[in-house]
Amino acid sequence: MSALNPVIGRFLGSVKEDWVDFMLAHVDPMMTVKRVMARVVSIDSETPDIKRFVLKPNKHWQGFKAGQFVSVKVMINGSFHERCYSLVNAPTDNVIELGIKRQANGKVSNWMHDNLHVGDVIELGAVGGDFVLPNVLPSKLLLIAGGSGITPVYSLLAEALKRQADLDVSVVYYVNTDKDLAFANDMVELAVKHPSLKLNYVLASSGEAGRFSQKQLADVCPDFAERSTYLCGPQGLMGAVTKVWADKGISDKLTQEVFGLPAVDPNKPINEMPITLRRSQQLLLNTKATLLESAEAGGAKPAYGCRIGMCKTCSCTKVSGVVRDVITGAIDDQPNTQIRICVTEALSPVTLDI
Ligand SMILES: Cc1cc2nc3c(=O)[nH]c(=O)nc-3n(C[C@H](O)[C@H](O)[C@H](O)COP(=O)(O)OP(=O)(O)OC[C@H]3O[C@@H](n4cnc5c(N)ncnc54)[C@H](O)[C@@H]3O)c2cc1C
Repeated sequence: MSALNPVIGRFLGSVKEDWVDFMLAHVDPMMTVKRVMARVVSIDSETPDIKRFVLKPNKHWQGFKAGQFVSVKVMINGSFHERCYSLVNAPTDNVIELGIKRQANGKVSNWMHDNLHVGDVIELGAVGGDFVLPNVLPSKLLLIAGGSGITPVYSLLAEALKRQADLDVSVVYYVNTDKDLAFANDMVELAVKHPSLKLNYVLASSGEAGRFSQKQLADVCPDFAERSTYLCGPQGLMGAVTKVWADKGISDKLTQEVFGLPAVDPNKPINEMPITLRRSQQLLLNTKATLLESAEAGGAKPAYGCRIGMCKTCSCTKVSGVVRDVITGAIDDQPNTQIRICVTEALSPVTLDI
């Protein structure tokens, strides 16, 4: 690649990057002008529905902080799809690892499980997220994970112990059965190396004792309220933990990562107002909770990535109309503003530059 760089540099003024990438892909799909590509090094089943993908990125990869996610772009039946996945391993490794759970009828997760093979090359997009450790580690850490929410939590764990081998860390990991424990061997290895790490696996199959409650948590981690806590898991678990922390007045000690948007209230009325997609000349109706969903329900196919307002793939200009950000509640009634349609609801007729 380095021998080709001067040639590419001369061409870039007049030739599009995409075209150069297209030509280079015939030599090696890992060779690109700027795009981050990654080759699949190994694929292993962690649980019946979670696979671990180890990838070796090309030289354009800029790295990540433990706990962050990367967007993965894959071509399925001729169209690109983009989803966010947490990076599982510690950032110092020269490979990256993803733990992907198969979702019933999910497009990308099923494609990754069924069609991606060792040696294949996929494209990676932006790295992001604030689910990261502070520069100065807290004296005591509590990491709570549920199901596939273990992915960023494991990354924080590996990083924290790399930075301070004797850090007082308690992990509480909620799953249905012992077969659903992902990265369990890695965690046991860490526990053997680091006696200050306490691992608690909580199995729903063991009845009441296997479900999160303040009492259950206090049984396995009596000083939980004193610990800096990181949480990632299904919405039910996250809601229950958040409530306990709020009731105890310690919400400032809780950092969370969400894999999806909060559930929409099914009884909330939706005003069926017009949505105009100016460039594609489509007139749709606002029938769903967000502009992205309404556009899809009307047959449009706007670009999207994470669907929770993080990756900005669905960002576009709102030409006119009044909208509300469903996460922050902020109302925007100004013309020509930039919005993320996956987390925006219409409060009036809206025109988008799509
Ligand atoms: C920051 C972040 C980090 C993440 N990290 C991870 C991770 O480490 N591991 C992981 O496994 N996941 C992770 N996710 C979730 C991941 O990004 C995907 O959302 C997940 O893999 C599902 O994508 P999919 O394409 O398979 O499903 P999609 O096709 O997007 O579908 C999602 C669900 O919606 C349903 N659905 C789809 N379309 C419709 C429709 N029209 N009507 C009704 N239902 C529909 C599907 O049945 C499916 O159950 C993360 C998400 C975020 C935002």
